[in-house]
Amino acid sequence: GATIGILGGGQLGRMLSVAASRLGLKTHIYEPGANPPAADVAHRVMTAGYDDTTALAAFAASVDVITYEFENIPTAALDQLEALRPIRPNRNALAISQDRISEKAFLNEIGLTTAPWAIVTTAADLDAALTRIGAPAILKTTRLGYDGKGQARIMAPADAPAALAEMQGAPAVLEGFVDFSREISVIAARGLTGEVAAYDPGENVHRAGILHTTTVPARISSAQRSDAVLIAARILNALDYVGVMGVELFVTPAGLLVNEIAPRVHNSGHWTQQGCAVDQFEQHIRAVAGWPLGDGSRYADVEMLNLIGADVAQVPTLAREGNTAIHLYGKTEAKAGRKMGHINRILPRT
Ligand code: ATP
Ligand code: MG
Ligand code: MG
Repeated sequence: GATIGILGGGQLGRMLSVAASRLGLKTHIYEPGANPPAADVAHRVMTAGYDDTTALAAFAASVDVITYEFENIPTAALDQLEALRPIRPNRNALAISQDRISEKAFLNEIGLTTAPWAIVTTAADLDAALTRIGAPAILKTTRLGYDGKGQARIMAPADAPAALAEMQGAPAVLEGFVDFSREISVIAARGLTGEVAAYDPGENVHRAGILHTTTVPARISSAQRSDAVLIAARILNALDYVGVMGVELFVTPAGLLVNEIAPRVHNSGHWTQQGCAVDQFEQHIRAVAGWPLGDGSRYADVEMLNLIGADVAQVPTLAREGNTAIHLYGKTEAKAGRKMGHINRILPRT
């Protein structure tokens, strides 16, 4: 069987390793940090930094294909790896989603709607952007943001200097504040031969910038459901993508707006573990290994609830629910804001 190389050993790498193992494939994890969650289940773990060219070469030599569980992999490491083994999803998809400006420019280019946005590096840029876009608005660093980090809300023009200071000199993008009725996401996959399979859109609720729950089915119309899936398919095809992607959307009276894309398995797709025959992790491994894809059909109504930090103390109680699957990531320290696990609760069908 083939060996899949995974850059990153967090919970996503762990669940990808479990899926690969079920398919009789091996995984080899590359991760700078000690004792990553994926180490419990992967076939091999290489502990080395992304500047260690010897380790990167040895890692590439030990695998058949390379994938990743996070976006922020240094370019030089990718250049080296790409010369040795295929990287799936491809470099272009990764580069576009690493930077909010290239991401939004790409989405607009292929005819998709985003919040109005403007590039901001100076106070003068921000003034001009606020004049054009108006308040309320959100200033976001272009790179490295996740779980709502690196963002500042501007309720009125007077908030602008403080918001710019929060960017700490990093390039930023100003986005008009979207008055959405709901947030949804589509998890979709594209195979090596170009076939696309999408899961049913999930409805997402965030708390303090971190995903709290994803519920399927989302409370949207069937027209919105097909729009969402078509948007995801358009993105995957435009990128000649191979693997699973998460597409976050805002539902508004004027239609669906794309918030951001993630070129990997996605927290809002964890419900597929109990809702579908082939979950997002198996789907991603199938895609990068060149297998046929599962069809994405959903067989249950599911609520996914993240266990963040001290929430993990609820596990003994949750374990008494007979219709709830528990997924823990093997992390020991329950730090505030840290994703410790999640549950998938099968909902009674209405
Ligand atoms: P993730 O962990 O999903 O990668 P992130 O840090 O990249 O998060 P975003 O997804 O850009 O951040 O924003 C986090 C949340 O903030 C969104 O899910 C949404 O609830 C809210 N938000 C972001 N941008 C806007 C906007 N332009 N208008 C309204 N709400 C927004
Ligand atoms: Mg993001
Ligand atoms: Mg997001």
